Amino acid sequence: MASIAPTTTFNFLAKTDPTIASILTKELQRQRDYLELTACTNFTSLAVMAAQGFVLTNKAASGLPGNRCYTGCELIDESEQIAIDRAKQLFGAAHANVQPHSGAQANFAVFLALLQPGDTFMGMNPFYSGHSSHGSPTNVSGLWFNKQHYEVDQETECLDYDQIRDLALKHRPKLIICGSSAYSRVIEFDKFRAIADEVDAYLMADIAHIAGLVASGHHPNPVPCCDVVTTTTYKTLRGPKGGLILTRDPELGEKLDKAVFPGFQSAPLQHVIAAKAVAFGEALQPEFKAYCRQVIENARALATQLQKRGFRILSGGTDNHLMVVDLRSIGMTGQQADQLLSSINITANKNSIPFDTQPPFITSGLRLGSPAMTTLGMGTAEFTEIANIIADRLLNPSSEAISQNCQLRIAELCSCFPLYPDLDFGDG
Ligand SMILES: *Cc1c(COP(=O)(O)O)cnc(C)c1O
Repeated sequence: MASIAPTTTFNFLAKTDPTIASILTKELQRQRDYLELTACTNFTSLAVMAAQGFVLTNKAASGLPGNRCYTGCELIDESEQIAIDRAKQLFGAAHANVQPHSGAQANFAVFLALLQPGDTFMGMNPFYSGHSSHGSPTNVSGLWFNKQHYEVDQETECLDYDQIRDLALKHRPKLIICGSSAYSRVIEFDKFRAIADEVDAYLMADIAHIAGLVASGHHPNPVPCCDVVTTTTYKTLRGPKGGLILTRDPELGEKLDKAVFPGFQSAPLQHVIAAKAVAFGEALQPEFKAYCRQVIENARALATQLQKRGFRILSGGTDNHLMVVDLRSIGMTGQQADQLLSSINITANKNSIPFDTQPPFITSGLRLGSPAMTTLGMGTAEFTEIANIIADRLLNPSSEAISQNCQLRIAELCSCFPLYPDLDFGDG
């Protein structure tokens, strides 16, 4: 039953625009044929897709539930209010704004609400672990605000709270951001809180990557000790592409609401908000907790087997859903590894490592994550096999026989764990 709405609407598309329909059909096949190990990628449920691909896309509804610029928003209000209530319940927040079009937009809303252009903020170095919206020189955060970046400790490759405190005392930031796109260890939000209090700064956690792990109790929750929490909804949280802002402080919540609209967005993507509501509803179920536990176990199995095969994992392992492999020991760059894996139907991504001497488009690292393949039902045995496939390919870059052997093993895994087995867009 779950597949009825997308299949029906897809059939209309196949009739009226076969060009686009054919691209989508081929993309479904590509997703079915690849091992998806990109740490920020996941597969939503068909229910999430159905909500996103339906009639709410038609309604202009600038404003918040109960206070819109247009009439006819009663049902939109219900849908958005459910998304808000479920988000608050999921993270124990007093206030939620579900309208940011993306995680980067959610972060910009915080800058707009709390800072003036030129103000100083601190975040993790975006080249290897932070996010471009935490002060990359080409992002608005780095262009319009005074950015100061902290690094991980060179030895342990973990956050060094003493160094962060020293930097905060030196630069006196108005805002401190914690959260990362490639950090495999637990973030200690209470330590960040103590530092922020000492310099009288706002504290924001960006949990874009780990939101699902936080919601399911597998990572400390930043909401009780941070002023603002932002996230994407599509990574470990397994919802549609989009952003979310949470706070424990209702007064600050109103300020953040105004920063989103009219600050820099107008009509919210109501179809996406309905899909967020569906995803938050799924994340409140016991099955989601079990899923997140498996995500972590699978990441550990992947890291452990890669280490057995001689690869170095940054910081020595992982506590969450991702890891970064240091490729210098096998004399390979991130770009080369990325291309080799792509040639056998594995998607991952090159990633800079701390103090990397390679430029950002080449890098010395490879980031791997377990969320997507865990959604398909794979467990630690499959992730151990995935580690062996990766090792076989990367340790034998010029062997055509090993490349073919890896491709066969990947095809076998993909056929045992099909994506959307109930769905057939095929004949449209
Ligand atoms: C992915 C990510 C974002 C950006 O989310 P988008 O929805 O792609 O804009 C922001 N912050 C962090 C830490 C991320 O990893």
